[in-house]
Amino acid sequence: MITIVGAGLGGLVLARVLHVHGIPATVYEADASPGARSQGGQLDIHPHNGQRALRAAGLLDEFRARVHHGAEAQRVLDPAGNVLLDHPGSGQRPEILRGDLRRLLIDALPAGTIRWGHKVTAARSVGAGRHELTFADGSTVVTDLLVGADGAWSRVRPLVSDATPVPTGTSVHETYLFDADERHPATATAVGAGSMYALVPGAGIQAHREAGGVLHTYVMLTRPLDWFAGHDVAAEFAGWAPELTALITDGETPPVLRHLHTLPLGHRWDRTPGVTLLGDAAHLQPPNGEGANLAMLDGAELAAAIAAHPSDAEAALASYESDLFPRSLAEGTEAARDFELIFGADTPHSLLALFAA
Ligand SMILES: Cc1cc2nc3c(=O)[nH]c(=O)nc-3n(C[C@H](O)[C@H](O)[C@H](O)COP(=O)(O)OP(=O)(O)OC[C@H]3O[C@@H](n4cnc5c(N)ncnc54)[C@H](O)[C@@H]3O)c2cc1C
Repeated sequence: MITIVGAGLGGLVLARVLHVHGIPATVYEADASPGARSQGGQLDIHPHNGQRALRAAGLLDEFRARVHHGAEAQRVLDPAGNVLLDHPGSGQRPEILRGDLRRLLIDALPAGTIRWGHKVTAARSVGAGRHELTFADGSTVVTDLLVGADGAWSRVRPLVSDATPVPTGTSVHETYLFDADERHPATATAVGAGSMYALVPGAGIQAHREAGGVLHTYVMLTRPLDWFAGHDVAAEFAGWAPELTALITDGETPPVLRHLHTLPLGHRWDRTPGVTLLGDAAHLQPPNGEGANLAMLDGAELAAAIAAHPSDAEAALASYESDLFPRSLAEGTEAARDFELIFGADTPHSLLALFAA
């Protein structure tokens, strides 16, 4: 039996593609239920990784039926609200709510595959490639083949690597406006049909239009971690156009603050019998719109490798990792470059150049 820790997009794609190949798996997830936690914003799913994974999962049509049409549009504004770029999007990278995509994958698994409310608190080797997981309630399980799909703060990662995430120096303050076309029309117009970026070096307001007139705001600030305890985020945008600052000052949900972290670029590990990682657990990188897509591709690729080596798990994991490590290095390099172009010293000019490329 294959044991997966984490029912994020990566772990779920792995379980689903294994199921397509007739291979059973169990997914242990910390959340108490599928709806226990808001799943965050809209993701654009790319042809060469996220869509490829959904094709392997046999779910591409179901995915297409759930996309938010038009949300691919991109705008760049200056702090005064002047439009620097207004692009309708290519149609190649459909947007979908993470929660809708996660639900699609959950519903495509046999009942009982996911064990909700199972937070792994420790993982240890018991020899011969087998591992014991301990859960928050004190119960344990021993696995033959273990996959850490448990995100940035993986409890499985220490079995293969000493690496831990380090802060990037940039944090995200998230909030929402609802019924924006009716209740915040100037702001809704400024955001447009899809994504809006208003950035200066070290600070920016990014917003996504989600279905039903929802505006999801990500305020990006490059500040020391302890700065946020004593400072007002909105005050950093004093003098900006009111239709932009309203995304912060009129926010209708308690703001959520996330400090962005990364694993070392090129993170890899020696082949360790019976265990591997995927997604953020393996290669947490600065957000450049690829992380969830890559986690899904990892899941599909790992499932394909396991299916191709039915009686040799070590060969499967070695094959998967031989592609994973160079791919993660290349993607991580690109993510660091993109992050600098989007949020660094030359933005918004470098962002405009990135969109034009
Ligand atoms: C602000 C922000 C915006 C982003 N925007 C995008 C975007 O637009 N497009 C994109 O592709 N990527 C984006 N990303 C990156 C993306 O969110 C991640 O790369 C992606 O979610 C990784 O998927 P995963 O399956 O590896 O891990 P996760 O999504 O983190 O899932 C891990 C799962 O494991 C569970 N878990 C964790 N610990 C345990 C435990 N101890 N026991 C049991 N279960 C556990 C969690 O509850 C969760 O369900 C963004 C990231 C951030 C921070």
